[in-house]
Amino acid sequence: MITDNLNTILSKIGGHNPTLIGVSKKQPDERIDEALALGLRVFGENRVQEAQTRWEHRKSQYSDIELHLIGPLQTNKVKQAVQLFDVFHALDREKLAKEIVKYRTSWPCFIQVNTGAEDQKSGISLNDVNDFYHYCRDDLGMDIIGLMCIPPKDEPAGLHFGLLADKAKTLNLKGLSMGMSNDYPLAIQYGATHIRVGSALFGERPT
Ligand SMILES: *Cc1c(COP(=O)(O)O)cnc(C)c1O
Repeated sequence: MITDNLNTILSKIGGHNPTLIGVSKKQPDERIDEALALGLRVFGENRVQEAQTRWEHRKSQYSDIELHLIGPLQTNKVKQAVQLFDVFHALDREKLAKEIVKYRTSWPCFIQVNTGAEDQKSGISLNDVNDFYHYCRDDLGMDIIGLMCIPPKDEPAGLHFGLLADKAKTLNLKGLSMGMSNDYPLAIQYGATHIRVGSALFGERPT
């Protein structure tokens, strides 16, 4: 099953080459092992503890696994997170940035941007991204590699991908983490460098 899904996704990616992050959160172990057997090495998780259980032993088994933390991070989990994850996609506040640099200044991070200005969603507002970016990079010395967004459910995703891409361009940032199962082909059209695909690859997440 995962073979077919992977082939479909790869054909939709076509000639572009964004990094495909297989979002394995909540997925059964056998699906993850199937993806590994197919050669997938880049995975995304949104909870530190779940990821430790699932990935610590697999990371020692496969030296080339690349693990992305795509969900929110609490300050008290930073120490574990910087050890386990290669890349972080949801940098969204000063307090968290300050905590990260205590442990690993060179951690590659995307700034999460709340492009839809949604109250319930985390992320830096579009107006504040410039200041926040310069604070992280210049004052804290962090390795900010790009911007990330999750478009509001009830608005055209392309609008938000466009806003994120424009903002990244003005900051001269190359990384664009955008696009999930439902909208990754569109995100690629807007220049996504990292697509975060869960259910379209592994199947529906068991609840
Ligand atoms: C769960 C999750 C995804 C993957 O979602 P799918 O719709 O299953 O592709 C991508 N990004 C983030 C931040 C997520 O939490």
